[in-house]
Amino acid sequence: MEDEFRQARWAAGRDILEPTLFELSHGDGYYRFRVEPELLEELGVGSPEELVPENLRRRDLRLPSLAAPEVARHFSRLAEMNYGVDSGSYWLGSCTMKYNPKLHERLAALPQVTRLHPYQPEETVQGALQIMFELAEMLAKLTGLPHYTLQPAAGAHGEFTGALMIRAYHQDRGESQRDEMLIPVSAHGSNFASAAMAGFKVVKIPSDERGRVDMAALREAVGERTAGMMLTNPNTLGLFETEILEIADLVHGAGGLIYYDGANLNAILGRVLLSDMGVDVAHLNLHKTFSAPHGSGGPGAGAVGVVDGLKDFLPVPLVRRGENGYYLDYSVPKTIGRVRAFYGNFGVVVKAWAYLKRLGSEGVRAVSGAAVLNANYVLSKVRRLRGVSIQYGAGDPCKHEFVISLKTLRRETGVRALDVAKRLLDLGVHPPTMYFPLIVEEALMIEPTESDSKRELDRYVAALERALREAYEDPDILKTAPRSTAVGRLDEVLAARKPILSWRMYERRQEQA
Ligand SMILES: *Cc1c(COP(=O)(O)O)cnc(C)c1O
Repeated sequence: MEDEFRQARWAAGRDILEPTLFELSHGDGYYRFRVEPELLEELGVGSPEELVPENLRRRDLRLPSLAAPEVARHFSRLAEMNYGVDSGSYWLGSCTMKYNPKLHERLAALPQVTRLHPYQPEETVQGALQIMFELAEMLAKLTGLPHYTLQPAAGAHGEFTGALMIRAYHQDRGESQRDEMLIPVSAHGSNFASAAMAGFKVVKIPSDERGRVDMAALREAVGERTAGMMLTNPNTLGLFETEILEIADLVHGAGGLIYYDGANLNAILGRVLLSDMGVDVAHLNLHKTFSAPHGSGGPGAGAVGVVDGLKDFLPVPLVRRGENGYYLDYSVPKTIGRVRAFYGNFGVVVKAWAYLKRLGSEGVRAVSGAAVLNANYVLSKVRRLRGVSIQYGAGDPCKHEFVISLKTLRRETGVRALDVAKRLLDLGVHPPTMYFPLIVEEALMIEPTESDSKRELDRYVAALERALREAYEDPDILKTAPRSTAVGRLDEVLAARKPILSWRMYERRQEQA
């Protein structure tokens, strides 16, 4: 049965799709679910009729019928088709896929973490509150922003929270005409969306040829309607905004606030305080910089830190330490309210806490040092490869990541950054972030992180070098890649627009076809 499916799929193309459990099911396919009346009696829970109201009773429960080993093997095969940071290099610029120590997973999986109930009395969850309190304290020390909320569930959610606080701050001062948020064009797409969702008009600030904020354009843009500026530093080109102090002065001088997108803090951990860069509010992605694994949408945590002047607007509750231990404080005077149910993704908080506790202040400096060194080592090799150019800030050292343009390669061979990325899968490494930031043509955004050794760095560069060489010698290899993965080229538009997310949808799609 299984083999038939595989063979049919082999024959149809090179795709080695694993059949679903429904396809693998024995007999007519479905296990008829039956509750043993004796068992119910023994348990003293009454008859099925008493337990489940008539209208909720299912008689057609369609569960596949399989032996336990078949199920185990199915999931093992699926796992083997996957690629993650534990399989190999995963240099996803901006989004930081770094190694997540397994000890942190174990801590986050302890029953003391997973079996907590959000409505438990405070005196029974002192340990959990202490972890939240201590993490906020460590993040404050790391950034110079004294007050933190751990509630937002993602980076973009943190941006939205911060933007709402900026709005509340101006309204509180009777300056609700401040409705413009300045955002550099190199920024992450979520910045524009978060600002707009919080009710701001987005004003885009161009980059200069060095890839930094165009200061002349910024001077033009600031004014009485400026609520603030959202920026990333080092920016998404991996370049440090050398004029950051002047930027902050300009925005502050006009009455606005500085929002710092700290989704990725790998370059500056333990090196510079955000407060010294003039930052008023920032979010940090615990699931990027602070070692919680991420991908496929979660779970994450976008902790938001603020200066004293904004602390009264933080979401509630905040964790505080009093005479009788830790407690949840709901008495934040001008709070923007809750942004999420309960207290955030606590498991992610535990991992970030463990990461910082174990590293200490020396350790975090070592992280940023290795991350920047690795990126510059790779940049020094990659910038010389045929077909590669650096569109912004060419010649500058990078911080934790860098962005190459393959526009020359495309012009000379017709091979796109997408094709190179697909080929890298065949060559055993995960491709970097593609087509971001938008201002770079045929962009590949490379972030080796601190996790990889020199051997791994060289292996990755060799894979990229080979893919680029092949583009000149035999472009078809790249255009038909990948060939060695479980699935080949996907119809990415169809996958995004009409995703098949369940067996039912798959069946329905088959019927329609
Ligand atoms: C990832 C990222 C975000 C958004 O974070 P999410 O957790 O994905 O919402 C924002 N800004 C930058 C620079 C990022 O890399």
